[in-house]
Amino acid sequence: MKKVFCVGELLIDFVAEKQGNDLSKATEFSKKAGGAPANVACAISKLGGKGVFVGSVGKDPFGSFLLNVLKKEGVDISLAQVSDTFTTLAFVSLAEDGERDFVFSRGADKELIYDPALKKNFHGNILHLGAATALLGGSLEKAYAKYLFDGLIKEMFISFDPNFRGDLWKDNEQEFIKKCMPFIEKSHLCKFSLEEAQLLSGKTDMYEACDILHEIGAEIITITLGKEGTLVSSENFKKIVPSIIVKPVDTTGAGDAFIGCLLYQIANLDSFNQVFEDNNLLLSMVQKANKAGAITTTNYGAIIALPTKAQLEG
Ligand code: ATP
Repeated sequence: MKKVFCVGELLIDFVAEKQGNDLSKATEFSKKAGGAPANVACAISKLGGKGVFVGSVGKDPFGSFLLNVLKKEGVDISLAQVSDTFTTLAFVSLAEDGERDFVFSRGADKELIYDPALKKNFHGNILHLGAATALLGGSLEKAYAKYLFDGLIKEMFISFDPNFRGDLWKDNEQEFIKKCMPFIEKSHLCKFSLEEAQLLSGKTDMYEACDILHEIGAEIITITLGKEGTLVSSENFKKIVPSIIVKPVDTTGAGDAFIGCLLYQIANLDSFNQVFEDNNLLLSMVQKANKAGAITTTNYGAIIALPTKAQLEG
């Protein structure tokens, strides 16, 4: 089984306990492990795969907490870096109308240093780039670009999730779009939400959006559509793969469960070429990944709600 190296942020989400208060009024917060690439690594490991986290936390109790959460889920944390900067923190509160009030205190996640020695570990494996904070600058952004361009593309299967966060790119969407382009161009697999596909392609119609994103360079595209399932698109076909019917209580982490489960299955193939050559195989893998996303919505939280292999097969 191939390894899946998940590069990006691992941070603390402080979530206000009581919905309806903005952050100025919230008094109690619960501490949760957050960060999309870290969630993806957990999703893969919970299914029995080899998720490896590549990112940076601070040399503080929050950093230790986060690395312990990943370790407990079976993620390989041997390539995680511990920096002198404090661990990145996000504070989130939901207003009565579901709007998020959000304060972001960026610390250690941006400090990831590119390690050329990793090239030999990466060879023949999968690289997943989850970009929620990675395109915001710092040495993480440089490392990101290096991992992509430093001769790895021919040797690896590259997956990209732009993880657009409106809170982080307020008034700066054009810069986000520009920064995503080289990653879309070089990736074998891109996972978008509908909002991301529309933003990055400039098209509201999702089929037209796929055409534009393929023109940029993405080979396989998945557009996750919540309870409607997923649109899968490659150069020669487009199809919506329905999800299963569930009663969702919290959709946090569904997208990470989806891409984690898809990459877990790709990691189990004898050759990456099978993904490009066998459409039926790709569709069946997306169907399973939909199920992983759906199961995640039936439980509160992100990492804790990710399915195990037994739940996925059940
Ligand atoms: P995130 O919310 O984590 O940023 P996302 O918007 O990409 O990610 P969703 O579209 O909410 O993720 O979910 C990912 C996948 O999980 C969907 O494509 C779908 O297959 C499945 N899924 C999500 N919500 C539901 C639901 N309510 N019912 C059935 N399946 C669901």
